[in-house]
Amino acid sequence: MTDLCNSNLLISIDHALDNIYSSLSVIDGDEIVSLHTALGRVLSENCIAPFNLPAYPNSSMDGYAFNSTDIQASDFNLQQVGVSWAGRPFDGMLASGQCVRIFTGAVLPKGADSVIMQELVQVHDHTIHFPDNTQAKQNVRYIGEDVKQHGNLLPAAKQLTAIDLGWLASAGIYEVRVKRKIRIAFFSTGDELRPVGSHLTEGQIYDSNRYTLAALLKKPGHEVNDLGVIADDKAQIQQSLLQAAQSNDVIITSGGASVGDADYIKQILDEIGQVNFWKLAIKPGKPLAFGCIQNCYFFGLPGNPISVIATYQQIVTPALRHLTGLTNNQPIRLKATCKSPLFKKPGRQEFQRGILTQTSPGEFEVTSSGKQGSNIISASSRANCYIVLAREQANVNSGEQVLVEPFNLLL
Ligand code: AMP
Ligand code: MG
Repeated sequence: MTDLCNSNLLISIDHALDNIYSSLSVIDGDEIVSLHTALGRVLSENCIAPFNLPAYPNSSMDGYAFNSTDIQASDFNLQQVGVSWAGRPFDGMLASGQCVRIFTGAVLPKGADSVIMQELVQVHDHTIHFPDNTQAKQNVRYIGEDVKQHGNLLPAAKQLTAIDLGWLASAGIYEVRVKRKIRIAFFSTGDELRPVGSHLTEGQIYDSNRYTLAALLKKPGHEVNDLGVIADDKAQIQQSLLQAAQSNDVIITSGGASVGDADYIKQILDEIGQVNFWKLAIKPGKPLAFGCIQNCYFFGLPGNPISVIATYQQIVTPALRHLTGLTNNQPIRLKATCKSPLFKKPGRQEFQRGILTQTSPGEFEVTSSGKQGSNIISASSRANCYIVLAREQANVNSGEQVLVEPFNLLL
């Protein structure tokens, strides 16, 4: 672990993520929440089906329920003896030669095992004419075919989606036990930073990273504390970190993580905590300190706005997902034909910003979204993907295949 923070060594993202996964323990603690507020939360226990789903055999069509033993070699007639409505079952028992009018979702009457679509029959008063080649056991939803009583509806560590919430509601479950929220504090560092809305003098800039981070952190499983801007003052940063570590699981900072005379983050982390790694072989985002202060994990992101987003997405996102117990944290990457030449020096893995389009189903093209400096926000604002270039890759010619990672910064 110590060689990971050797100041000359740039470590790969894979190496960094391995280190993160082995250092972070999934948070302890859970809470019960109602389905109304459960979207995106992570189950802390299995959800068991309290009854069979479906709870009773029912029809998947509007038509006629009958018993397949009544099917003849050619067309035949059955007598309609009643109706089974959704919510109002037919309470009799079908005898041979009988059928029941039935609607979608209605209980299949006792004695019936099949439903024929209404479009396939002819109706003369209560005599229903079934065609030649009528099929047995069609259009029936069987008891427990989705999940059996006491079966596992959803597993622990599942992040709840819209479909899951409806699934739980269909089983009558209106509250669930989920992982507690992760408490995350974040602040910006830099003497040049001023809050939006204030007047700038020469050399000052607005603190934009805090808006980016606040938006990226807005997730159902996060409880976020915005600690503002802290000047490039070692004592103040140290004090803020120590205080934030008391009541948060994670601290994220931006700025001051590099090697300048006013960059204190790595030095402070060395003194009051533990540095697991510091410099990554990625662009943007080389200076990134990861470690811990007491029981609190710490991510010191670089200050440049695009480095913040890239390191957040590549490093912090999988780390926070891992903390909540999620395991499928690999981004989806696909191959695309690069339609613009890309400038790249070997040495660091690059996450260039690109515009991905689908030219026909399954066929993708990508172009660079513009200037790639880590301070250039315009090109990232236009982008909808990273073009992921391997560490030893050099320039890319137009027409070459590249790997892309689509992103949606609204999510
Ligand atoms: P640093 O990592 O502190 O050396 O900062 C690198 C660059 O990012 C400098 O140009 C900073 O002015 C800029 N920067 C740092 N923090 C912020 C911030 N919160 N918002 C916008 N730009 C920032
Ligand atoms: Mg700075």
